[in-house]
Amino acid sequence: MSDCLFCKIISGDIPSYKVYEDDLVLAFLDIHPVNPGHTLVIPKEHASDIHENSIDVARALMDVAHKISPLIAKAVGAPAHNLTFNCGAASGQAVFHTHLHIIPRFEDDGHRMWQGRKDAGDLLGISEAIKRQF
Ligand code: AMP
Ligand code: ZN
Repeated sequence: MSDCLFCKIISGDIPSYKVYEDDLVLAFLDIHPVNPGHTLVIPKEHASDIHENSIDVARALMDVAHKISPLIAKAVGAPAHNLTFNCGAASGQAVFHTHLHIIPRFEDDGHRMWQGRKDAGDLLGISEAIKRQF
């Protein structure tokens, strides 16, 4: 897509620090990292989020993430990492080209993923509502 930031990174019109590339997938460093080594893994096929990609492309992306995540963490000396998709604006998604965040994590690095947890609420009703969608 001509007006998509990440498509421009794929084409090379916008520079990036690439760490992995194959026919279907590109991985590059996030320009505003949560921690050193914060990497974005993207499919070369444009889609607004993973649910709009074909399952084959989604699998290819996860194959790459599975392979490179521990290597990225090792490279920056991180004992842990988060793998995160933001899907939709309310989730915090700002760039609407599918991307998986690989975020190396350190003890006491100050990054808080799970603030603001709610009471359990109607777990039975919610689980039934989800299963009715399948
Ligand atoms: P999200 O909020 O899930 O849409 O994440 C988009 C990510 O893209 C953010 O973490 C940004 O820091 C990152 N980002 C935006 N522009 C660039 C760029 N030119 N190169 C690398 N990362 C970028
Ligand atoms: Zn795109």
